[in-house]
Amino acid sequence: MHKKLFIPGPTEVREDILQAQAKPMIGHRSKEFSALYEGIVNKIKKVLNTQNHVIVFTSSGTGIMEGAIRNCVYKDVLCCVNGAFSDRWAKIAKACGKNVDEIRVDWGKAIKPEMIEDKLKKKKYDAVTLVHNESSTGVRAPIEEIAEVMKRYPDTYFLVDTVSSLMGDKIEIDKLGIDVCLTSSQKCFALPPGLAVCTVTQRALERTRTIPDRGYYFDFDAMLKRYEKDRQTPTTPAVTLLYAMDKQMDKILAEGMENRYKRHLEMAQYVRDWAKKYFALFPEPGYESVTLTCVDNTRKISVADLNSELGKRGFQISNGYGDLKERTFRIAHMGDLTLDEIKELINNINEILKL
Ligand SMILES: *Cc1c(COP(=O)(O)O)cnc(C)c1O
Repeated sequence: MHKKLFIPGPTEVREDILQAQAKPMIGHRSKEFSALYEGIVNKIKKVLNTQNHVIVFTSSGTGIMEGAIRNCVYKDVLCCVNGAFSDRWAKIAKACGKNVDEIRVDWGKAIKPEMIEDKLKKKKYDAVTLVHNESSTGVRAPIEEIAEVMKRYPDTYFLVDTVSSLMGDKIEIDKLGIDVCLTSSQKCFALPPGLAVCTVTQRALERTRTIPDRGYYFDFDAMLKRYEKDRQTPTTPAVTLLYAMDKQMDKILAEGMENRYKRHLEMAQYVRDWAKKYFALFPEPGYESVTLTCVDNTRKISVADLNSELGKRGFQISNGYGDLKERTFRIAHMGDLTLDEIKELINNINEILKL
């Protein structure tokens, strides 16, 4: 039996989208491919309401995390760390040989704009990395306030991981001045894993061109030059996944982004209300994610047992991440899930736990 996924990636993929992959192959040097890829890029720009460049990579999101560092950082980068994925970005920057300074707060807490400003006042950084929605803790960063700080330091580029929030939580990329905003296909896009998407500002692209050792596969300039030339990609892309993405973009356009954001908020509100009634929320109050709820396991239930009971009924949620295993559990409400499906899941949890 298929277990419906309420986990922070991969998310549930609808049957028609899965089916869209099962079409005959086309060559990636064909006119059909150019039309497919150009169509996808334009639809993404439209739904995200951005004038920035859009690139689709055949990789997971982590690939672009590394790409963003290599394309935008000469030497010094400030990494905001409050969970597993933001920690990963600091590790990536170190692995790329950059000088990394960190702001670290406890898991479950948010990075505040003042903390960033304090650092930026004292030293000039090429970029700041921020995870908008920490999937390990369910914390949403106060990105609007942080963006205000970033605008006062125009030489410091703003790199934002929105892997588990973009397309589900409204992020005004251009207004916030995000230089690289990146995500993966298997989260709020509700697609299979294997593609990653980013937006890149013109100034970030111009900086990229001045960094000779920016790497090869994730070179933003090479991707965009090829796109300019013939709407293709320098290397072989995952064509079948792009078929699915094209169809999914049409479905997202048909839903309408405001409706999509509203649906996510309604699901979040429902799960938060339930969690507050029977447990507690793990994130610092006021910084709760819109796409996943991290529940503090105050009743000391066995999360593993709950999940195996849920599995028998065709549902799957996530245990806590890393050290938070059994101390928390996570219910993702992202992608194409509906409030009715969330209610069905919660009813089943209530039955199993006799709440
Ligand atoms: C899932 C996730 C990632 C990693 O994405 P991959 O596609 O697995 O590389 C990074 N950041 C956040 C916030 C995530 O939720």
